Amino acid sequence: MDHFEFRHGELHAEDVPVSRIAETHGTPLYVYSRATLERHYRAFDEALAGLDHLVCYAVKANSNLAVLQTLARLGAGFDIVSGGELQRVLRAGGDAGKVVFSGIGKSEDEIRLALDAGIYCFNVESEYELELLDATARLMGKRARIAFRVNPDVDARTHPYISTGLKNNKFGVDIATAEALYQRAAEMAGIEIIGIANHIGSQLLDVSPFLDALDRVLALVQRLAARGITLRHLDVGGGLGVRYHEEKPIAPREWATALRPKLDSLGLKILTEPGRAIAGNAGILVTRVLGIKGNEAKRFAIVDAAMNDLLRPTLYQAWMNIVPVIESSDSALQTYDVVGPICESGDWLGRDRELAIATDDLLAVRTAGAYGFTMASNYNSRPRAAEVMVDGSDVHVVRARESFDDLVRGERLLP
Ligand SMILES: *Cc1c(COP(=O)(O)O)cnc(C)c1O
Repeated sequence: MDHFEFRHGELHAEDVPVSRIAETHGTPLYVYSRATLERHYRAFDEALAGLDHLVCYAVKANSNLAVLQTLARLGAGFDIVSGGELQRVLRAGGDAGKVVFSGIGKSEDEIRLALDAGIYCFNVESEYELELLDATARLMGKRARIAFRVNPDVDARTHPYISTGLKNNKFGVDIATAEALYQRAAEMAGIEIIGIANHIGSQLLDVSPFLDALDRVLALVQRLAARGITLRHLDVGGGLGVRYHEEKPIAPREWATALRPKLDSLGLKILTEPGRAIAGNAGILVTRVLGIKGNEAKRFAIVDAAMNDLLRPTLYQAWMNIVPVIESSDSALQTYDVVGPICESGDWLGRDRELAIATDDLLAVRTAGAYGFTMASNYNSRPRAAEVMVDGSDVHVVRARESFDDLVRGERLLP
């Protein structure tokens, strides 16, 4: 459920007509809904009620400061994958004590930053990272709290680029060797073992891979306990899917209901790291039709948003719903490829879409709140889009549209 609805044939973001927002703030434009973000966060929080738990929003899905602030105010934790994301969380008022740090290539500088901030846990993904973490923590006179992110070798049955839990993925430590790593970590002065984590992929539409992964992780928890290594928390990762087209995603409540029989009696704090399921349908990308070209065989609607604004179609061949912001009966229904102005044939937002549109019409790409703006680039020297957050009948600019000066900031001519 989200708060983008048609009222009298006009798409609204909460109580504001999207066309009015676009008139004021221009296009391409990301529009977020605060109520939707809050609703999705609460869905996870409530699904785990009664268990000691922490919902750590995966910052890379949408890292706008106002998005992070909205969630921080609800008490969210955060899953970060870089020092930059940690600084964003802190800038937005997030609690470092609720941050877990994932990622396979943490640098020494990032580790120092996180130790200084006092984050809750490092999700360690390799032996070399463990050694670096131990050495860095000891130099700083600290102990790093860690969980190993184990790779349970289960197939998440999602797109190969967003599947992370198979043996041949680069993520996590092999579950078969994790026990030996825990043993090593237990002997390190700079390390305090507090948990175990896994995250098997993104846009999962079925609960069974979660259950398979959990069984393997719980078997490891028991083997560790037999060695005297006891844990405080279990991080079940993120990855719940959303509806882009005809998918039937699992609701947080269904997901939790399926997992809870295995979790309720463990006595461990439960962490989860949802990104897409919180931010995905809390945002749309609004774009204007620049012109229409083509012939009877092929029609293109050329719009002012492109792959630099929204990479998912190009990168994952993702299908995203594209709808006119104002339903009109003046234009004839035709089949279009909706494409951006970038000099790449891969620059498309949607293919073979039935739309009744004309030049200057506004379109909305739905469910663009996650992995939208955060994957944006300046390719073709295109300034990145503005971002606004709607809150009831208020519209707040949460990131100004970039200017030419922003594009060349830091660049220098030769003497
Ligand atoms: C990306 C990521 C997530 C969030 O995944 P979603 O599919 O957006 O829920 C969670 N945990 C880790 C370690 C990640 O890399």
